Parts: sequence; structure tokens; C-alpha cells
Amino acid sequence: MFWNEAVETLDRPELQKLQLQRLHETLERAYTVSFHKEQFDQAGVTPASLKSLDDLTRFPFTKKSHLRDNYPFGLFAEPTSKLVRLHASSGTRGKPTVVGYTRQDIDNWAEVCARSIMCAGGQPGDMLHIAYGYGLFTGGLGIHYGAEKLGACVVPASGGNTPRQVMLLQDFKAVGLACTPSYALNIADQMRELKFTPQDFNLKYGIFGAEPWTEEIRAKIEQELGLRALDIYGLSEVMGPGVSMECEQKQGLHVWEDHFLPEIVDPNSGEPLAEGETGELVFTSLTKEAFPVVRYRTGDLCALYYEKCPCGRTHARMSKLKGRIDDMFIVRGVNVFPSEIERVLLDFEELAPHYQIILNRPEHLDVVTVLTEVNYNFYAKTIGFALMDNNHPSIRDLSSKIRLKLNQALGVSIEVQVTAPRTIARSEGKAVRVVDNRPR
Ligand SMILES: [Zn+2]
Repeated sequence: MFWNEAVETLDRPELQKLQLQRLHETLERAYTVSFHKEQFDQAGVTPASLKSLDDLTRFPFTKKSHLRDNYPFGLFAEPTSKLVRLHASSGTRGKPTVVGYTRQDIDNWAEVCARSIMCAGGQPGDMLHIAYGYGLFTGGLGIHYGAEKLGACVVPASGGNTPRQVMLLQDFKAVGLACTPSYALNIADQMRELKFTPQDFNLKYGIFGAEPWTEEIRAKIEQELGLRALDIYGLSEVMGPGVSMECEQKQGLHVWEDHFLPEIVDPNSGEPLAEGETGELVFTSLTKEAFPVVRYRTGDLCALYYEKCPCGRTHARMSKLKGRIDDMFIVRGVNVFPSEIERVLLDFEELAPHYQIILNRPEHLDVVTVLTEVNYNFYAKTIGFALMDNNHPSIRDLSSKIRLKLNQALGVSIEVQVTAPRTIARSEGKAVRVVDNRPR
């Protein structure tokens, strides 16, 4: 089922014609912003230099630091009097990055989110429970407007107060759940504690994003919540959630290419990479008015595929994210992504799907400790009502098995600490997977 079948199944030559026309308009618009004009001038290009889509590679990149340097409104192509909304990143390292939307931008955003919900199997008339945070973060309001445009009945639960979320899910019988995958697992934990099974709910599909997650987490969520778990992608700099969405084929996320033009580049050299090669995802907006972006470096790693999907959609698919460049850490010269550790941990049926990676530098060498917890089943069977004892033979044995598996998979030695159920802090929004305690 399609929200906008004509566009979602457009032949590639037609789609490219539309992209080229919109790309021209975007470059013209960006050229009115002094930052972009200076960037273009330095690179020796003007909007007129673009004759084909391939010519875009001659244009300069925009980076996150450029947003910070031009805080708060320096990259806007419209005055704030023409805007109807602002959003901002959390700004954990100082000032946030701010983005703005005109009324048309909000409408286009709702359009791609409505497409995304139907792409996940949603329908007009569905009840959709949104447990993404509402506020300056784009998650909640982004999906919210899309769901209303689709004609779904929205439960704007926002994040937090998990027991209450479980009550609402049970009483209202929502068929769709939108939140981060780590929060979905948190909700699943809460359901189990309250002795519910998936049959006590009416959930059919989940739209989970805002953090990278593996197939192993998907399997866990689907099993525990009894729904179809699909991946949604987006970032505030490019729009918010709904830049791309997985369909029921689960073979990559469709990038809504009539609004966003994707590229994959080598993260070090910035050179374009071929179809199917993994590199850094880069976006140029095609319809945004208030905050056009030109070749924005997302910091996310994935690959692009242009083959038509069995679902009938022609828009390119991006693979599930391998990770964020920022989340990667180096242990004794080896690059490690949290997703690789996640994959190993989720293979152990003794463990709950919650973990944290702690980085320390006690002397001159980095020490990586993976903190994970046993699930209730294993806890009840081996330790019973006694307090969790890290020296218990079954825990010692399990820890060394995990350490060995991590060592084999990653080629570096990693410390493992196994704890009691519900010891690791649960996320109510984006999970904190890596805690970096190393001196800067
Ligand atoms: Zn598809």
C-alpha cells in the first residue's frame, strides 16, 4: 500500500529529471545564504555550474561544525518571520544546532512521514502510539504530523513514565508504536514485569529509529512485542524522521528521493563511492525552503542500492546503518563499532538486550569494558533468590564465554562485566551505548 503511489513508483529517468530541476532550485536558494555563497565561490562553482546530477560532486560539503559556527540562524534562507517552527539538537557539547521550517516545509515533512507510516504497513484509521520525545527533538512532532496527515489517530504519549505507556497501549489498543528501538525494549521489559504477554496488546507494527540498531535487536523486539519492527531514519539537519523508511521487505530503507538526494562518500577523502559500497551518507535537500542543505555530511555509515524493490517502490534504498563515525572507537589500533559488540551480545540467550560500553584510560592504554546483564530466566535458574554474585561459577563462566566471543569477532580483548537484571540504566529516548571516561 502506498500513500503517494505515483511518486513512490516513479521511473528512475523521470525521478532524476525531477531531482535535477529541484536541485537547481535548491542551489539557487542556498546561494542567497552568505555562508553557502562563500563556500561556492571558494570552490569556483555557481548554481549555473550544475548541468547534471553528477555535477553535484563539484560542490562543497556542509558539516555539523558549520551549523555550530553559524548559530543560531546563520544558515537559514528565510527570516524567522517566515517560519512556523524551530527544532534543535540536544547540544551536549555546547550550543545546540538549530533548524527552521516554513509552512511548506512542515507540509512536506508530514508528507514523507505519512508515506513512511504506510510503508511500514500503517493505514488511515489506525491508532498510532508515539513514544518519541516531543519538543525541540524532531522525533515526536515529525511523526505526529505525518500520522495526522495520513488520517491515523495519534496517541502523543512522548517519552518517559513507562508503566503508564504500557497501560495506555493495553487500554487504547494501538496497532502502531513509534519510538527508539532501545525504548521499545524498555517498554517490553515493563510489560513482562507486569506479567503481560504480546497477546494482551494489539500491536502490529513498530516504527523505530533515531539510533542505529542491528537485526539481532529487531528479532528481540519482534519476539517480545509481537509486532513487525521496521527502521525509520532521519536527522534534524536534513528534516527529521522520515528521510527514509524500511518497507515490509526489510531489505533497506527507501530514501524519499523526490525530497532528499543521497550520496555515499569515503569518510576520509570525501570521494564519491559506488553503489553498494559502505561509506558516509551525504544529503542535499531538494524542496526545503527555510533550511536548504547542500551535501550535508551526516556522520552515518551505510551503503546505497538503486535496484527497484519487490514492494514496487523505485526510490533508492540505504542499508541499515553500520553506525555513526562519532560512535566508533579505536582499541589498540582496531576500529570498533558498538553495533559489532551488540551483535555478539545478542547471540547469548542468557543475556537481556541491554548493554553499555565503558571506555577508560587508567594509564596509557585504553580499556574497554562491556557492561551487560543476565535476563530473568537465567537469573531465576542459576542464582534464584540470592543476591547477584559476580563470582558465582555460572556468571564467571558466562563472562569468559562472552569475552572469548568478542575477542574472536573483533580481534581485540575487551573486559566483560555481567550484572543482575535491570541494572543498566534504561533509555527513554536515545540510548547511551558508549560512556567515554577517557581524559580529553
Ligand atoms: Zn520496498
